[in-house]
Amino acid sequence: MTSTQPRPVDARHARLMTGVALLAAIGTLVIWLTDRQQGLATAWDQWTIPLLSALYFGIGVLHVVKPRCMPWALPPTLIATSVYLLVAIHLAMEGPSLPKLYALTSLAQMIPVFYVIAFVAWPRGGAWISGLTYAGLLAQYLFSLQAPMPTGGWGDIQPLTQKALLASVLIHPACILALSFIVHLRGQLSTSQQEAFKGKERFLAMLSHEIRTPLQAMLGTIDLLALKLNGSAETRALDRLRNSATQLDTHLRDVTEFTRLEDPALRIQADTFDLTQLLNDLRDDWIERAQAKGLTLSIDIAPGDQAALQAVTSDATRVRQIVCNLISNALKYTLVGGVTVHASLSRQPLARGMTIVVEDSGVGIAAQYLETIFQPYVRLEDARALRVDGTGLGLAVVQRLVDHLGGQLHVDSHPDRGSRFTVELPMADNG
Ligand code: ADP
Repeated sequence: MTSTQPRPVDARHARLMTGVALLAAIGTLVIWLTDRQQGLATAWDQWTIPLLSALYFGIGVLHVVKPRCMPWALPPTLIATSVYLLVAIHLAMEGPSLPKLYALTSLAQMIPVFYVIAFVAWPRGGAWISGLTYAGLLAQYLFSLQAPMPTGGWGDIQPLTQKALLASVLIHPACILALSFIVHLRGQLSTSQQEAFKGKERFLAMLSHEIRTPLQAMLGTIDLLALKLNGSAETRALDRLRNSATQLDTHLRDVTEFTRLEDPALRIQADTFDLTQLLNDLRDDWIERAQAKGLTLSIDIAPGDQAALQAVTSDATRVRQIVCNLISNALKYTLVGGVTVHASLSRQPLARGMTIVVEDSGVGIAAQYLETIFQPYVRLEDARALRVDGTGLGLAVVQRLVDHLGGQLHVDSHPDRGSRFTVELPMADNG
C-alpha cells in the first residue's frame, strides 16, 4: 500500500508558474502559426512572437532548474511582453484594415491576461508594469483621436479600430484596480498570519524555557542521586523518574520544533555536504539503541552514486532531522529484524536530486492510516499497544521539513511486514 504526500504550497506555486509559462509559450506559437497561414501575421510579429515564445519556454525551464534566478528573469520578461503588446497595438492602428482590426481586438483581449500574469508572477511590480502598459494604451488611444481620418476603402474601419481601443481603455482600469486590491488583501493576510505566528512562537518559547530549565535541573539531580544510591529498588524508582522526565523534555522539544516549522518565513540554509558521512554519523548515534532491542541498523549507498552523494546540496541540518525522525520511528515500531537506510541519486529529467529510503521490518501500517499518520498529534493504536512513547509529531515534522526543502515524501507499508518511507529531495541551489 502506498501513499504520496502532497507537495508544499511553494512547490505547487512553482509548478503552476512553470505550467503558465509553458502554456504561454505554446499558445503564442500556435496563434503565430495560424496567423501566418492566413496571412495575418505582420512583419513585426514574424520575429517577435517566436522570440517571446522562446523567452516563455526559457522561463518555464528556468523555474524548474534554477528557481532562485526567477526574481531577475521575470521583470525583463514582463517588460518585453509589455513592449511587444504596445508596439503591436501601435502598428495595428496605422493604416486601418480588416486584418489589423482583428490584430487590435485580439491584442486588447490579451492585455488583461497579461495584467493577471504580471500580478501573480511579480506581486510587487505587477501594479507598476500593468499601470505603465495601460498608460501606453491610453496614450495610443488619445493619439489616434488626433490622427486624420482616412476616407474611402479601409478608412471606414478607422472608427471601429478606435472603438475597440476605447473599450479597452475604459475596462482595463477596473481590471488593474481589482488585481491590486487582491494583492493588497493577500499581503494583509500574510502580515496578520506572521504576527499571529510570532505571538504563538514567543508564548511557546517562554513556556518551553520555563518548563525545560527546571526539568534539566531535575534530570541532573536524578543522575547525582543514582550515583549515590545502591539499592536496586531505589535505582529502579530513579530510572522511572528519569524516563518520565526525559519523555516530558522530548515532548516539549517536539512541540516547539513543530511550531517553529509553521513559520511561513522560515528559510532553508543550502550548503554542500557529504550525505554518506551524515548517514554514517546517524548510524553511530542510533546503533546502541538498535542493538539494545536486538535489531540491525545499516546504511546502503547505491554503488554508482557514492562519489556524487559525497557532495550534495541541501540544508544539512534539516536533512539530518528528517532521517533522524524516520530512523527513530523505524526502531520504535520494529520488534524483529532491522532497519536499513538506502541513499541514491534521483534521476529526474531536468533537476538533480537525492533519494533517501528508510526501510524497516516492523509492525507496518494499515492502508487506511497511510494518509493520517502525517497529521500532527496522530498516533495509531499499534503505537499505544506497543507501549512506545511519542507525541504523534515525528512524521508531521518530517512532512513539514520535506515541504520546506521542496521535496516529496512517500510511504509504502504492509501490516506485519514493515514500512518504507521514501524522501525525495531536490538539490538546492546554493549559488
Ligand atoms: P509518534 O511516533 O510520536 O507516535 P509519529 O508522527 O512519528 O508519532 O508517527 C505517527 C504514527 O505513525 C505512530 O504513532 C505510529 O503508529 C505510526 N508509525 C510511524 N512510523 C512507523 C513505522 N516505521 N512503522 C510503523 N508505524 C509507524
